[in-house]
Amino acid sequence: MLEIQGLSKTYGNNVAVDNVSFSVPDGQVGILLGPNGAGKSTIIKSIAGLLRYKGAIRIQGLPARSMDAKKVFAYVPEIPNMFDALTVREHIEYIRMAYSSDITDEEVDEILREFEMEDKQEKLGNELSKGMMQKVSICCALAVKPRVILLDEPMVGLDPAAIKKLKEIVLDLRNKGVTVLISTHMLEMVEELWDIMFVMEKGHIVGSYTKKDAEGRDLDELFFAMTG
Ligand code: ATP
Repeated sequence: MLEIQGLSKTYGNNVAVDNVSFSVPDGQVGILLGPNGAGKSTIIKSIAGLLRYKGAIRIQGLPARSMDAKKVFAYVPEIPNMFDALTVREHIEYIRMAYSSDITDEEVDEILREFEMEDKQEKLGNELSKGMMQKVSICCALAVKPRVILLDEPMVGLDPAAIKKLKEIVLDLRNKGVTVLISTHMLEMVEELWDIMFVMEKGHIVGSYTKKDAEGRDLDELFFAMTG
């Protein structure tokens, strides 16, 4: 379970996120949907502990800032960060050690295979395209075996095959009871994935819907009715 209560974040005089509260139940896929600048990344970065903010965030019942919470979640940033001098495999090994993950070599092989990265394992961080960095970033997150995973605009920069694979992985994570939060400005990318959706505009949540609320309704219409 991921719980956000009264989250606010300002950059100078700019209120990026204004008193936002929402939660994603265990084993569900939550979507933060909204245009550029709505505040989605600010929320995800706050949960990930990269920003100072006002409000309370709990991950699996633990304060998000606690070390125990940090052990159970993984974060895939919008813009992946790579070490120039580490190979693809070494990036995953590094995360595996840092998180004391019990993932096996075979499971790492399987993750790499899923993203067709097996033959790219020895490539260095500074030899990777943006799309490949994004895939490595997702592989690293999966290597943590997280209970909660945050994906910030994860489809941007991925080729169609990788998007398809990522969607399968998200559904697989959900089947395993992992809680997922995805930010996106592209409704069509998440249509078959979501359980609960939070529509954002100018730092606020202007609508929240469960899959059941939206049954039989046209999602685009719903979205435009909320955002005008
Ligand atoms: P995008 O997909 O473009 O990142 P977003 O919905 O994720 O959009 P945020 O990146 O959270 O939105 O930005 C919310 C607001 O905060 C915007 O007005 C943005 O200009 C501002 N903002 C974000 N990061 C910073 C920063 N480091 N310094 C100053 N203002 C920022």
